[in-house]
Amino acid sequence: MGLQYFIFLFTFFYSGLYTATGADWSYSGEHGPKHWPGLCTTGKKQSPINIVTEDAVKTDLGELKFIKYSFAFAGDVTNNGHSVKIQIRPAPIRLEGANLPNSYILEEMHFHWPAEHTVDVNRDVLEVHFVHYSNKYHNTSMAAQYDKGIAVVASLFKLSIEDNMDIMPVINLTELVSKDVGKSTRIKGTMVLPSWFLPKDHTTYYHYDGSLTTPGCQESVMWFILSEKLSISEAQLNVFKNVGTENGTLCFNYRPTQPLEGRTVYHHLEGYSAASTLPSNLLLTCLSLLLCKLLHSK
Ligand SMILES: [Zn+2]
Repeated sequence: MGLQYFIFLFTFFYSGLYTATGADWSYSGEHGPKHWPGLCTTGKKQSPINIVTEDAVKTDLGELKFIKYSFAFAGDVTNNGHSVKIQIRPAPIRLEGANLPNSYILEEMHFHWPAEHTVDVNRDVLEVHFVHYSNKYHNTSMAAQYDKGIAVVASLFKLSIEDNMDIMPVINLTELVSKDVGKSTRIKGTMVLPSWFLPKDHTTYYHYDGSLTTPGCQESVMWFILSEKLSISEAQLNVFKNVGTENGTLCFNYRPTQPLEGRTVYHHLEGYSAASTLPSNLLLTCLSLLLCKLLHSK
């Protein structure tokens, strides 16, 4: 109890300190990613990464369960100078399943333009992060201090000729906060459904253990990158690219990909079993041996 309380107090003050110094880092220049302090430089489980699809270990990790993601909720939209964030006020929106040790509560969603994770070195135009904290803790900043304290689901967007009407309310809200750094706009009238930012088929994903992609880069994140993509039009994307900061426009807000350092990336495929491919492989080998023998005997 004593230790828990101390940790809570520490986290509370630490997060206050973190906000106060939040303006000290940026995505380019002398405060850019190469100069981010602490774990951002010394860590061995950093994010984002480049996912090499051929090297990903195919497995069935279990289905990700998006609980109450289709619930409409009111939240606060903020331009914090590093991203556009939709903060969710206490709502029963949770992530469970896969290899998650317990239930994770959705705290906020934010955007990176272009995407942070690359797939076979291809960078998509936008990535949304759904940030959840383990229900063992009080919030994300406290959970960030612990292994597997945080679970982030990422959806990637590809360019399309047509507007994605599902995300239009959030595009409009982004426009509203675009020039108001640090001010929050409460969603009035418009409700937000997290499911707008999930591809229709969200059964397949890549998984690995990594970190927050902003300072202090704590290595407490279980990452789930959905393999199906959403779409966004050029005009919609431009709304993000025009988001203002205290020093101009936030043209991009991605951290470069980090070394894998021997970590395993898993590719979750429902119903996949390594054993199930064995008989067909064996059969193929036998058939080709037989064919060889027949050809040589002539
Ligand atoms: Zn993020």
